Amino acid sequence: MDRDTLRQVEDWIKFFQELGFEEFYRRPQRVTAASSSPKAAATPLSASPNAASGPTFGNKPLGASEASRGPAKPASPAEPPITAAPQFTASRPVASQSLSLFEAPPAPAAPAKRETLEEIQTDLGDCHRCKLSKGRKHIVFGQGNPRAELVFVGEGPGADEDEQGLPFVGRAGQLLNRMLQLIQIRREDVYICNVVKCRPPGNRTPEQDEIATCSPFLFRQIQSIQPRLVCCLGSPAARTVLGIKEGITKIHGQFFDYGTGKALATVHPAYVLRNPREEVILRDDFEKIRQFLQSA
Ligand code: SF4
Repeated sequence: MDRDTLRQVEDWIKFFQELGFEEFYRRPQRVTAASSSPKAAATPLSASPNAASGPTFGNKPLGASEASRGPAKPASPAEPPITAAPQFTASRPVASQSLSLFEAPPAPAAPAKRETLEEIQTDLGDCHRCKLSKGRKHIVFGQGNPRAELVFVGEGPGADEDEQGLPFVGRAGQLLNRMLQLIQIRREDVYICNVVKCRPPGNRTPEQDEIATCSPFLFRQIQSIQPRLVCCLGSPAARTVLGIKEGITKIHGQFFDYGTGKALATVHPAYVLRNPREEVILRDDFEKIRQFLQSA
């Protein structure tokens, strides 16, 4: 690691230490089928023999301005990344032998007071914190039930979403709706949002600095909703939420501890539209979602 990179890593560390984080750069715990039940999810990981080696997070409440402030020096694409799961309870990731993490700053810790989505959206405002603001028509904050058990996280708005200011309203959104119908979940009962709230030019993948700037708002949304399950749609969402860099085809359909609940990743509906044979992956993973949510 060269000196500039090291300095930027130190900036990130300093920034998150100011927010009360004491340790990070840990790996999420892969959850076995047996432990993916809500009962298992509610089991504090502090009881785990591995817990002592897991990260601890400070109790300092995260104010709205702190979460959106960002580090003193924003990351560039070559810089330390961006991601990690929000740990809004005592639950914490435990090292996994088979997963590796970006060396990334974690998501904000839980505020003492549970923010509302309206408060987060107000704080976001007419955001120009990153360069994606230049080409957007609308900020796509998110849509759905503020107390949803299931939250979907996509990559970023496309053309239709940018036009309407709503997430997943284009062809990919129609496929998502169809998958929800298959497992008999109403769209209005879930919450849908994206890693970045503004459309990347030409629907390109969001860049690391853009994700680093925008993702604190995503984590605050998840903290506000506190769902039982977060479903990451596609690799950028999985990398941001879970902090894993394995390909989505390797880790899709697996449950991970995440905050007070679980998280799983699956392929993005837009990918399935381009590769219709892969719809089976989406169907299988949605069936796992159905089984998880129906488990008592
Ligand atoms: S992508 Fe996020 S951080 Fe960037 S301008 Fe849009 S709302 Fe702000």
